[in-house]
Amino acid sequence: MPNDPNCIFCKIVAGRIPCAKVHETESAVAFLDIAPIAPGHTLLVPKDHHATLAEIPGDVLAKALADLPRLARAVLQATGATGLNVVQNNGREAGQLVAHIHFHLIPRAAGDSIHVHWPHGKYEGTAMDDLCSRIAAAL
Ligand code: AMP
Ligand code: ZN
Repeated sequence: MPNDPNCIFCKIVAGRIPCAKVHETESAVAFLDIAPIAPGHTLLVPKDHHATLAEIPGDVLAKALADLPRLARAVLQATGATGLNVVQNNGREAGQLVAHIHFHLIPRAAGDSIHVHWPHGKYEGTAMDDLCSRIAAAL
């Protein structure tokens, strides 16, 4: 199993540092975020150490995410939240602080003071077609 002895989430996976664990499977562990954006903010962490989505093999991720819907239902039920954001940051520029892939489950409620501001742009000329072709070709 890929592992980085200096990685804080590998240490949690190995039981070397404590966490508020809510769920564990063969391939993933879920625990409460220590600095929650909302009460019940939970992290789903694949056990294997891979930094980002760009590195983790698809089959490894598929197994680790198998219980994501179940975990989402449990977080919603336990917190009474009516909405849930699943957020996954890749790379420092995207806000990733812990370089071991993880998924945030953030409970949401009407009128909460969490504001996600993602400004939308627009494509000019052939830019959309060009990027579509380049991404498709890169697969
Ligand atoms: P990210 O910015 O996507 O890398 O998020 C990392 C998250 O890990 C942050 O929300 C931190 O609050 C959380 N975190 C860091 N250390 C711990 C820890 N020991 N136990 C629980 N959550 C942690
Ligand atoms: Zn790790």
